[in-house]
Amino acid sequence: MPEANAIVTQRIDSAPGLMVLRVAPAGWDLPAFLPGQFAVLGLPTSAPRSPGSEPEDPALPPDAFLRRAYSIASSSLEHQYLEFYLVEVKNGALTPRIFALKPGDKLWLGPKFTGMFTLDEVPLEQNVVFLATGTGLAPYMSMLRTHLVRDGNRRFAVIHGARNSWDLGYRDELVQMQRLAPNFLYLPVLTRPATELAPWTGHTGRLPAFWAKGALEQAWGFRPGPADTHFFLCGNPDMLTTLQGQLEAEGFREHTKKVPGQIHLEKYW
Ligand SMILES: Cc1cc2nc3c(=O)[nH]c(=O)nc-3n(C[C@H](O)[C@H](O)[C@H](O)COP(=O)(O)OP(=O)(O)OC[C@H]3O[C@@H](n4cnc5c(N)ncnc54)[C@H](O)[C@@H]3O)c2cc1C
Repeated sequence: MPEANAIVTQRIDSAPGLMVLRVAPAGWDLPAFLPGQFAVLGLPTSAPRSPGSEPEDPALPPDAFLRRAYSIASSSLEHQYLEFYLVEVKNGALTPRIFALKPGDKLWLGPKFTGMFTLDEVPLEQNVVFLATGTGLAPYMSMLRTHLVRDGNRRFAVIHGARNSWDLGYRDELVQMQRLAPNFLYLPVLTRPATELAPWTGHTGRLPAFWAKGALEQAWGFRPGPADTHFFLCGNPDMLTTLQGQLEAEGFREHTKKVPGQIHLEKYW
C-alpha cells in the first residue's frame, strides 16, 4: 500500500459538495507539468468517510487502496502545491474520504502527472473555447492561470455550466480575469435559475442548447470556424458527446496525435 506522501495545506468549501483543495508534497519536489494535465490522489479504504456521505458499494474490499485521476487547477508556474477542484460523489469510494480531510491531514499524491488535454498542440494564433460542466473547469484554471498573459494575441472563452450560481467555482477569479484581460470572455450558464436566491439575469440552459443559440458568436462578433478556433470539452460525458456532435456538424474535427483537429476531449467518467 503506498505511503501517504503529501499534506493538505488548504481546503475551501466553495459550495455544499464542492471544494478547492491544495496539496503539497511532503519532503519531495513537484515535477514539472503542462497546464491541463492530471495527477492521481489516493487514500486507503480504512480512511473515514465524510459525515454527509451515503453508503458505498459493499463489495469494496476493506484493505483496498483507492486512487482516482484529478485535473490540476493550479498554474504550472506554482511549485509549492497543487490545487484541485473536487465534487463529492456521495456514494462514491474516494471523494467522500477526501471530503473528510482537513488541513494537516496526509494523503497519497501520485508522483507523475500526465495527460494530452493541453494547449501544447494548439497553434498560438488560434482562439480557444473552454466548455465545462461542474468540476470540468479545473484544467482550464491551470491553463488560464499559466497562459492568459503569455497568449495575449488570441481569444479565450470559458463557457461553464452549473446548476446554481453558488456552484460556479472560481467565478470571482474568472470575472477578474475578464475585467483585466481584453482577450478573455467568461460565460456562466445555469440549469436551475428558478431556484436562485436572487433573480438570475445571466445565461441559462444546458450547454448544448446554449451553444446552439450562438451566444459566443454574438459576444465575439464573428462565427468561430475550424480555421481559427479550437474547442476543449471537459466533464460530464453526455455533454461531451452531444457537443462534439454539434461541433462536428459545423465542420470541426476531434484532435488526435495522428490526425490534427480542433476538438479536445477530457471525459471524467
Ligand atoms: C482525467 C480525469 C480527470 C478528472 N478530474 C477531476 C477533477 O478535476 N475533479 C473531479 O471532481 N473529478 C475529476 N475526475 C473524476 C474522478 O477521477 C473520479 O471519478 C470522481 O472523483 C469519483 O470518484 P469516487 O471514487 O468518489 O467515485 P466512484 O466510486 O469511482 O464512482 C464513480 C461514479 O461517480 C460519478 N462521477 C465521477 N466523477 C464525477 C464528477 N466529477 N461529477 C459527478 N459525478 C461524477 C460517475 O457516475 C461515476 O460512474 C477526473 C477523471 C478523469 C478520468
